[in-house]
Amino acid sequence: MTFGMVILGRQGSGKGTQAVHIAEQYEVIHISTGDMLRAAVKEGTELGIQAKGLMDAGELVPDSVINGIVQERLQKEDVSRSGFLLDGYPRTVGQAIELRNLANDDLKLAINLEVSIEEVTERMISRGREDDTEEAIARRLELYEAETAPLLEWFTEEGILCRIDGLGSETEVYARIVEAIEDKIL
Ligand code: ADP
Repeated sequence: MTFGMVILGRQGSGKGTQAVHIAEQYEVIHISTGDMLRAAVKEGTELGIQAKGLMDAGELVPDSVINGIVQERLQKEDVSRSGFLLDGYPRTVGQAIELRNLANDDLKLAINLEVSIEEVTERMISRGREDDTEEAIARRLELYEAETAPLLEWFTEEGILCRIDGLGSETEVYARIVEAIEDKIL
């Protein structure tokens, strides 16, 4: 049996950066749905063409599409050997239900990196990614509150939610995460 984790947090909460550190230290496979979609856009695959407009507008890619991509990735041999850390998935209750089916008992921990809306807005404006227009940022945050925040309750009920204060230096935040992982899993 392997172990799986998810990392949740508003856009700009630093979850991508922290996910890289976690994956390295605990030797789990980092699966970022945003990175996978951006790679598809770059390669110009059918998925990429379909996803680009939605991503630029800050909209979500449909559950049916993203669930298929994640399912395929989780079935790969490296994941069954090493376990996984999902970053950017699940983002809706529909995705969480799918993940439960896919991962069943392997999902051990859901980390929520908590940073306020005001703080993440400032961070995103200053990082200047291509899809970080003001409208897209506002829309992504709105969708986060509507679609993704309810997942906190879902993971609480599953008994695996761990809330981490995301304010502070990268190192400080990472130390909090490590403490939570050691507490819950090891
Ligand atoms: P951010 O956290 O800033 O939104 P991501 O890299 O996680 O950045 O995602 C970029 C975009 O990719 C999202 O705005 C969305 O359009 C799409 N996306 C990524 N993950 C998902 C997902 N799980 N469900 C639906 N859309 C997704």
